[in-house]
Amino acid sequence: MREEEYKRLVEEIRNCTKCRLHATRKNPVPGEGPLDADIMLVGEAPGKREDELGRPFVGRAGELLNALLGLAGLRREDVYITNVVKCRPPGNRDPREDEIAACLPYLIRQIQIIAPKVIVALGRHAGRTLYSLAGKKWPGIKRAHGRAIPARIAGVSVTLYATYHPAAALYNPELRSVLEEDFRKLPSIIGGGRRGKSLLDFF
Ligand code: SF4
Repeated sequence: MREEEYKRLVEEIRNCTKCRLHATRKNPVPGEGPLDADIMLVGEAPGKREDELGRPFVGRAGELLNALLGLAGLRREDVYITNVVKCRPPGNRDPREDEIAACLPYLIRQIQIIAPKVIVALGRHAGRTLYSLAGKKWPGIKRAHGRAIPARIAGVSVTLYATYHPAAALYNPELRSVLEEDFRKLPSIIGGGRRGKSLLDFF
């Protein structure tokens, strides 16, 4: 049932023409990972390599992400990974508001199908979007990163955790240390997420 629903969703994304990004993409990038994952990672948008392969986080930022997951004692195959928008913005520009709005129903359905315990927002676009879906005020990435908050998104109780986007840390050693520190905190957040699920029911 869950698999069938997911297959339908992926098919819709592959055929989607709801925003201008469909015209310039090579491949849409729906996301990948186990459908019963406890942790969902949400980035901003596919880059060049992702667009070529139709897979999320496979370029240099993806290599860094894999290493960061290792710091948290996680393997890439343990987590579900996707982006706020599923098609590459040309020249890696930021996704526009109308593109994010057009694509958001897909992310909402992914959250409902996978029902993760923890959602990690990678970067300010993902953070802002997920805070907004949770009905929370986005305090900006500098204040939000490394903080876990209880949230209800698309009817699913989750722990929402924001950090920087790995691509932003590729050439910035300072940011890289911050990102590493945020990922080192993940195991305790995940533990909190598991316990928190019942506590969150009181909200
Ligand atoms: S970015 Fe999203 S809404 Fe736009 S064409 Fe791709 S799948 Fe459709």
